[in-house]
Amino acid sequence: MFIKDIFASKKPVLSFEIFPPKQEADVRDVLNSAKDMSSLPIDYMSVTYGAGGGNSKNTAYIASYLKSNLSIPSLAHLTCVTHTKDDMREMLASYKAQGIENILALRGDRPEGFSGELFPGFKYACELTEFIKEQGDFCVGGACYPECHPNSPSLDIDIDNLKIKVDAGADFLVTQMVFDNEKFYAFRDKLAKKGINVPITVGIMPLMSAGQINRMALLSGGATMPSKFLKIISKYQDNPEALRQAGAAYAVEQIIDLLSNDVDGIHLYTMNKSETARKIIGAVSSLF
Ligand SMILES: Cc1cc2nc3c(=O)[nH]c(=O)nc-3n(C[C@H](O)[C@H](O)[C@H](O)COP(=O)(O)OP(=O)(O)OC[C@H]3O[C@@H](n4cnc5c(N)ncnc54)[C@H](O)[C@@H]3O)c2cc1C
Repeated sequence: MFIKDIFASKKPVLSFEIFPPKQEADVRDVLNSAKDMSSLPIDYMSVTYGAGGGNSKNTAYIASYLKSNLSIPSLAHLTCVTHTKDDMREMLASYKAQGIENILALRGDRPEGFSGELFPGFKYACELTEFIKEQGDFCVGGACYPECHPNSPSLDIDIDNLKIKVDAGADFLVTQMVFDNEKFYAFRDKLAKKGINVPITVGIMPLMSAGQINRMALLSGGATMPSKFLKIISKYQDNPEALRQAGAAYAVEQIIDLLSNDVDGIHLYTMNKSETARKIIGAVSSLF
């Protein structure tokens, strides 16, 4: 099923993000975790590509498994990093053969320690988006950044570039993790003024452990962490259970506020932790 059709048929849409493991032997654990999450009221699940060193080869395998074995519509992430146009043509044909219909088209970033040619086929995600659309019948999503992508000189320029990506064929958008809902509402207003009318789903990253905090700051690309959120970290970082509970409560509060402000969807960065997804979505399941 195309994700754009899910957005057309219901609101709000709930999605989860999972990532392939670094070790091949751990793929089974990820699939078990996805299975555990599949009983929640989710509309689709996305699988990252190469992010955090996860094995990119397994993105398509996991996305295909979600659809075929768990009957969950899936979204396979794909980046431009190191891929030529010929590579990409082959990959898309193989995705199609594996039943993958939805792709999150991303530029990607330079992997640590990599010094080769980074973007031999596509310089920006808009070019990949256009290419995927030319290759056949795929629904394509794109990333967006309510507080500006770190490489952009300004949010207005970033939004101009986002418009190019949407005009190139992006059917829906998924935000960078958001901790301050007000930043998202201001962004949504700017996109509407710019004539960007595709559905936008909001990325929520629950605080789960002290070990995750530095990584979260790195991946958030400078997303504002409100003082209420920072206080939870400083108060509970040495108490894992309290941090998990307070982090889940913060995410629940954020989701309720977003839903009462009529967002198109919530995209939960689950970090493959089904128990956390269960706690958070269990607390708001009747809102979906
Ligand atoms: C929801 C989400 C999921 C992600 N999943 C992954 C993943 O699975 N794997 C992974 O490696 N990374 C992932 N990322 C990270 C992403 O690859 C990086 O943030 C990357 O730096 C930008 O990717 P993009 O697709 O947004 O790039 P783009 O849309 O290409 O934008 C990148 C920069 O280029 C500028 N730009 C865009 N188009 C043009 C143009 N035509 N002319 C001039 N400038 C332009 C933009 O303003 C921006 O500053 C994800 C990010 C998000 C928000």
